[in-house]
Order: sequence, then C-alpha cells, then structure tokens
Amino acid sequence: MRTAIATVCLSGTLTEKIEAIAAAQFKGVEIFENDLLSFNGTPADARRMIEDLGLKTITFQPFRDFEGMPEPQRSKVFARAERKFDVMEELGCDLLMICSNVSPDSLGGIERAAADFYELGERAAKRGMRVAFEALSWGRHIHDYRDSWEVVRRANHPSVGLVLDSFHILARGTDLSAIRSIPPEKIFLVQMADAPRLDMDYLSWSRHYRCFPGQGDLPVDDFMLALHATGFDGLLSLEIFNDRFRAGSARSVAIDGHRSLIGMLDELRRRTGSPIADLPDIPSKAVCSGVEFIEFAVDERNAVGFEKTLRGLGFRKAGNHRSKAVTRWQQGDINIVVNADKEGFAHSFNITHGTSVCALALRTTDASATVNRAVTLLDQPFQQPVGPGEMNIPAVRGLGGSLLYFVDRMNGLDRLWDIDFEALELDQGQEAGLTVVDHISQSMHYEEMLTWLLFYTSLLDVQKTPVQTVIDPGGVVQSQAMETKDGSLRLILNASQSQRTLSSRFLNELFGSGVQHIALATSDIFATVARLKENGVELLPIPENYYDDLEVRTDLSADDVERLRSGNILYDREGAGEFFQVYTRTMEGGFFFEIVERREYKGYGAVNAPIRLASQTRLASVDVPPGL
Ligand code: MG
Ligand code: MG
Repeated sequence: MRTAIATVCLSGTLTEKIEAIAAAQFKGVEIFENDLLSFNGTPADARRMIEDLGLKTITFQPFRDFEGMPEPQRSKVFARAERKFDVMEELGCDLLMICSNVSPDSLGGIERAAADFYELGERAAKRGMRVAFEALSWGRHIHDYRDSWEVVRRANHPSVGLVLDSFHILARGTDLSAIRSIPPEKIFLVQMADAPRLDMDYLSWSRHYRCFPGQGDLPVDDFMLALHATGFDGLLSLEIFNDRFRAGSARSVAIDGHRSLIGMLDELRRRTGSPIADLPDIPSKAVCSGVEFIEFAVDERNAVGFEKTLRGLGFRKAGNHRSKAVTRWQQGDINIVVNADKEGFAHSFNITHGTSVCALALRTTDASATVNRAVTLLDQPFQQPVGPGEMNIPAVRGLGGSLLYFVDRMNGLDRLWDIDFEALELDQGQEAGLTVVDHISQSMHYEEMLTWLLFYTSLLDVQKTPVQTVIDPGGVVQSQAMETKDGSLRLILNASQSQRTLSSRFLNELFGSGVQHIALATSDIFATVARLKENGVELLPIPENYYDDLEVRTDLSADDVERLRSGNILYDREGAGEFFQVYTRTMEGGFFFEIVERREYKGYGAVNAPIRLASQTRLASVDVPPGL
C-alpha cells in the first residue's frame, strides 16, 4: 500500500506542511483545497514545491454537495467540477475526492446519484482524471459506505471509484463485512482515522477529535482486516481533523502519522500472516518485564540532599560506577542510578532541567530488536561514548529529551551492574520494604499526549486504559495509563490545558516534560510508613476531612481508619481489591515519590488524586526544604 497524509492534519502554511510531510518520509499527499487557496503562489508553484521534495499529490479534496442536485444547481455543480479539474491539471493531480451531499436542496435516490457520477466520470475521463466518492457519516441522503458503493457500482464508469474513510464507517458502527466483496480496483482511496469513543454528533466528533490509528478507541484493525480481504493495494492516506494536532508541531505530528501507519500495517501483517507491499521488516513489539533502573541527573550541590532522600526511603548505596561520578542505589528489585558526572548526557540534562529523571531502563527480551523496531517506527536512537570495557546499552530518545534504555538477558546487558559498577558493602541504612517500581508517571504538554501514547504503544507490548479526568485545584488533568498484561510495567501520561495545575507547573519548573512521580511498591504499607518515620521522612499530610469521609463511605472500622489517618495513607477499593498510597513531600523541581500497596487492585487511586493534588498545592505555597 502506498501511504500518504492529508495537509489538513497539520498546523502551519502549505509550505510548512509539505516540508513536514516530506521530512516524515511520506511519498504522497492529499491537498486540501483551503491550504491551496491560502498558498501564496499558483497551483503550478505548489506542484513544483511538492515534487521538489519528492512528494506526489494523490488527491485534491474536498468537492462538496455534488450528487442529486436539481436544476439549475446541477449545471452549476458540473461547471464547478470542471474548474477543479483545471486546478488539478496545474497541480499535477488526477484524483478528485467528492464527499456525499449535505445540502437541503439535494434529492435522494441511488439511481439519480449514479447517473450524476456517470456523467462526471465521462467529463473526468476526457481530461485524464478520476473521481472518488465518500459517504460522510452525516451525509443528507448517503451516509453509509454500502450506499456510496452502490452509487459507484451503478455508475459503472472506469473513472469513478470509491473512498473508504475508516472514521465515517467505524463511528456509525457500520457492519464491515460488505467491504470484503468490493473489487479492490474500485477503491480509489482509503482514508484512515481513529477517534476516542465520544457521545456526540458525527460532524463535531469528526472535525475535532479524529486521531491517528492506535491513538483512539475505534476498531481500525478490524477495518484493515476487511480491507485486506479485498486484496486492496492502493492509496492509504491519513485524514485527521484534530484541535491538538492543529496546535502542535507539524513536524512531530507528521512523524506520529507515519509511525501510526507503520505500526498499524505491521499489526495487519501479523494478524493475517501475509506480506504487505512497501512495509519494511520490523521486529515485534518489545515484551517488557519491568524497570531495570531509573536514572536521576543531579549536580554536586543537590546530590547530598537527594541521596539523603533515598536513604530515608530505605535505599542503600550498592555500587560506584567504574569511570563516572555515578552511584547505584538499591532496595528490593529497585535500582536507582544517581548521575552527578560533570560530562555527558545526564550533565547536560541536569543543566536544563535540574534534579530530574533523565533516563528509564526497561527490561525487555531483546534490546537490540527493540531499538531496531524503534528506528523503523521513526523514533530517534541514542548513542553516547562509553569507557573502555563498559557496556553500550541500546537507547532511544523519550519524553522531553530523556532516554529510554533497554536491558535484556539475551545479549547479556543485565550484567551491567557487574561490568560498569564496583560493588560496595551495603551500608547500614534501614530498608523500608520497598520491592519494585509500581508505576512511572510523566507530565507533558496537552498537545504532546497523543504523541507519547503512540510512542509507547507502538514500540512496547502495552495496553492503554481509558483516559481518566482528574480534578486539580488549578484545573483539569487528563491521565492515561499504559500497562503490560502482567503489570510489571505501568506508565502514566498526565497533561493539562490549564497553566495552574500541578502538572503544568511541574512542566514550567522542569523546563519541559518529564517524570513527575515514581510509585514504589511495598507489601506492607504500615510497616513501610513506620520505617520511613524512623528514618525521618516527612510524608504529604492528608486533611482530617478525608478520613472522616472514609469512615462514612467504607466499611472500614474506626481503628482501621485511625491507622490510615496516623500514617497519612490514602485508601481505595475496587470490588474486593484494596489500594493504599502515601506520598513524599515534593522535592525542589516538583518531583515526588509515591509508595503503594496493592491487594488485588488494578487502578491508580484516581479517586484520591484530587485530595493529593490539593495537599500538594497547599504545601507548594510554603517553603519546602529541598530533599524531602
Ligand atoms: Mg474523509
Ligand atoms: Mg501515582
């Protein structure tokens, strides 16, 4: 299949859009008429620019309100089409996309529409052009692809074909089986879009919320299976109307688009077991089995305070890097790397962002295959010089310029602690019963959220869970989790459109997107909290009202509630599952740790998030010493 993208997906001028599309390695582009109308040059100038960048215009669109018009409008519509053919001739494009009529003047009737298309087909053929018909989900008479196909079938003209738009078909929940019997040569264009499940009219849903395949909730993979059954091997183009994309960077959105198509076609190849033309070989999604380490970039001044925090949480210094000012801190199956080196990636990250997470390392089955998959998906691989004999750990660029490393056993990368670090006698710190990393929560700009969702879900074998809306004292935060089936890796993306939420303020303090909190698991929250108190760790205070309410709305005994209250522990229940959470105070820069105990509980305590955010907001207005 030949992949393309419509100019309407991106922000910017036509020139900026075309440059972004070429930079994302597309070969085809759909030109939206409005982009051409606002272009400062002739259609021939646009053609030169498009072709100079190695692109081809595959479609000119949209041509509206065509079929079923009574006279005198009918004659005018045909005259208008001829003018579009003139423009297309100059533009070097041979396909005009026509969407179904929404005009109150239009007349219904498949036969009438077919006759109009036959006549238009005759006119197009004379000029070496073709036309393709799309059923808009809100079309006046035709809003179902089975009807638009019947029009095309009856028009029975070689220059008249069909457009299948996954949004219009999936949004209405139209049965997909009829796609399978459409002759592939009559499908002139396939337009791909996904969308979140929303309960609203089709027009507003389509115009504002479409997204790339994999970013939404529609069954695009089922649509692709039906399409595949036809033997279709033609034009597959992205057509997305999305307010976030219009506000985002054209270059990054174009890359997201291409990434989504590669990921979707790879999925199709795996599901059908048949090759897809033009799709490069690509390793399967990385199966992750947890977090190998979390690396913090610190400077000398803050290292002491930060290490005190780690010690308070029960971490013990377990190793010194052989050639760098880097230490390993350990507890249970958790490794924290503190990088205070004066050179290299972590140092420059620290200069920009202050004390912050500069890298995450995930355990995968095959780290180099993971990076190969990432490169095919247009992610950015990362390399930096390593000392003699030290390990070169495969990595890609992640959120906010941070790194995502991959560590495996297959290539012996899990020996990094022995090879790169000199083990230390564990010091006499007090462990606090922390066992594994439970989840990693990243805050980002609202416009970036779908980008990072796609980044993770296209690369890793993780499932996304429904978006949660969390109320912060300064506004609304959207929160989306992604998890492996066994829960060994849980990532959370947070974003907010309000500048006043904690999530947005974190972005400002950090000068960019990044890890805002890390949750560490314990199997006994009460014992852990007791140990943290002994270690002098101050936890986030939770208001009394919360516990009064807890006593009323749960069947917890007064004693149970008292234990929670005295530990500043938040509580949630999900069926028989129970969840316990506490938070450290926020460090300079906005980062904090969370400690959780799960008892058959799958969520993240979303019900408690407003309480936590309110407490953090209250504390943020007073001075908090760095460290804890
Ligand atoms: Mg469309
Ligand atoms: Mg959390």
